[in-house]
Amino acid sequence: MTQIQVIPGDITQFAGDAIVNAANTTLMGGGGVDGAIHRAAGPALYAACEKFHGCPTGEARITSGFALPAKYIIHTPGPVWRDGRHGEPELLANSYRNSLQLTDEYGCQTVAFPSISTGVYAFPLDQAAPIAIRTIREFLRTAQHVQTVTMVCFDPVTEQAYQTALNA
Ligand code: ADP
Repeated sequence: MTQIQVIPGDITQFAGDAIVNAANTTLMGGGGVDGAIHRAAGPALYAACEKFHGCPTGEARITSGFALPAKYIIHTPGPVWRDGRHGEPELLANSYRNSLQLTDEYGCQTVAFPSISTGVYAFPLDQAAPIAIRTIREFLRTAQHVQTVTMVCFDPVTEQAYQTALNA
């Protein structure tokens, strides 16, 4: 039995198998959720990320969770919103799908996502949420290990958008 949950909270405290980081293409840390994850995981995360020499938008890389309660961190740079005509929806779906693919390969059963690209990257929340939920749903149909995917929402507006997409 697979499921999708939407909850309020801070993703760094998620005590499951994996959390996803809304990273940038350098993978060398930044603001928002990326900064929070690097602070909470500790400096060993920075050293681990250095070895990737970056990551293209929509792809994903995996590291240990280091000091976090989660076992693994999946790092994926979501698209920067321009006008919606530069492949942003497809790239956002790629971020979710490739992150889920990696967690599944590593045998994870529980994985948490932040709202990728809807902060500094300015992807409209009302468009991002349905893309995220649809991509997660599709993935769960053929997942080998992943059972529960949790959207951890940092503010009530974000939580409402994902709840609405989930109930649509
Ligand atoms: P992006 O650059 O992909 O837009 P941001 O980090 O700016 O990434 O924002 C993505 C989302 O993550 C926003 O909804 C933001 O409020 C949220 N966020 C920030 N810190 C945390 C956290 N500790 N846990 C969960 N979500 C967070």
